[in-house]
Amino acid sequence: MATHRTKMLIIGSGPAGYSAAIYGARAMMEPIVVQGLQPGGQLTITTDVENYPGFKDVIQGPWLMQEMQAQAEHVGTRMMWDTIVEVDLAGGSPFRAVGDSGDEYIGDVLVIATGAQAKWLGVPGEQELGGKGVSACATCDGFFFRGKKVAVIGGGNTAVEEALYLTNHSDDVTLIHRRDDLRAERILQERLFKSDKISTLWNKTVERFEAGENGALSHLVLKDTQTGEESELIVDGAFVAIGHAPATELFAGKLPMDDNGYLLVEPGTPKTEIPGVFAAGDVMDHTYRQAVTAAGTGCMAALDAERFLATLEFAEEEAAEAAE
Ligand code: FAD
Ligand code: NAP
Repeated sequence: MATHRTKMLIIGSGPAGYSAAIYGARAMMEPIVVQGLQPGGQLTITTDVENYPGFKDVIQGPWLMQEMQAQAEHVGTRMMWDTIVEVDLAGGSPFRAVGDSGDEYIGDVLVIATGAQAKWLGVPGEQELGGKGVSACATCDGFFFRGKKVAVIGGGNTAVEEALYLTNHSDDVTLIHRRDDLRAERILQERLFKSDKISTLWNKTVERFEAGENGALSHLVLKDTQTGEESELIVDGAFVAIGHAPATELFAGKLPMDDNGYLLVEPGTPKTEIPGVFAAGDVMDHTYRQAVTAAGTGCMAALDAERFLATLEFAEEEAAEAAE
């Protein structure tokens, strides 16, 4: 068991964590990134990324995250292959975290960038056909289904927004919901029902996703929740939109969260309620949830962390002078 000390401790290695590390290292904060179970974050489970600025041609999510890691290391970040299982924030800076390995991490500032994970249905074919027709992000993958038949599963705001977004690419969008009443806000429902590109299938659950001869998604097997009857829906793409779960269990009772478990920050900043603790990326953002916005808030966290440390150092110097 070892103790690792740093000015800047970052939990999470997605775009938010790596961007915070790049800025933090260049500001001489000698960051440590604790990478967690998914080094590189959510983009490592996708293929084509076409909307991250700076690349004219389609790039691969895992490649982008390797490059971000390499850049963070190149400027002086230490990567730790560990998962934080406990944090102690109550006493203020410095903050203490304990890894699954038993190692202890101490940081004068803490950046929480643990992300959020799309919830999945957990039915056969779903994971196998990920990147081959099944996705959890229409903004990311909708473009690949231009002019094709697509389905969205879910009945909340996300599902309706995804269905509406997909009409930019497809004239044949089916929303599949397990009940006959949407949870989504009225205004979104109105837009949905007004669209002649979207049809709805009520009281249906997806039993499984099935592939065609080419190995890509060919159809969904549905079950009617009222009659139990099975049916098939032929689609090229299916978007599971049944909610996201932010990775915030560690901070329960330690930091304020909204009703869905997202960390609350001072509006327009990554500052949490505790001075010196910052939250960046999907863990504090249930609205945008994009790699570029996660990277942006990671940058903001590092800039605010630098200012916090400068204030802390100034106060320490003043106290030392007063004591002399
Ligand atoms: P994440 O990427 O979720 O990373 C979280 C990190 O925290 C991980 O490294 C994890 O290991 C770590 N972690 C969690 N808990 C702990 C712990 N206890 N201790 C240590 N580490 C921990 N966005 C786009 O802009 N374009 C796209 O094309 C695109 N495609 C996508 C495709 C898919 C299939 C999915 C799921 C998402 C896609 N997104 C896309 C969304 C994008 O991936 C996310 O918005 C982005 O990754 C969020 O970054 P993040 O840094 O906040 O968190
Ligand atoms: P959500 O509100 O929790 O809705 C999830 C939907 O998926 C529900 O309709 C639910 O069905 C369905 N569902 C859940 N598990 C399922 C399963 N296993 N099989 C089939 N269907 C399943 O999630 P969300 O839409 O992602 O929204 C999360 C939060 O973010 C909400 O507070 C929402 O308001 C907010 N949000 C806001 C905006 C916006 O303001 N523009 C946009 C997106 C999200 P039931 O209805 O039957 O439970």
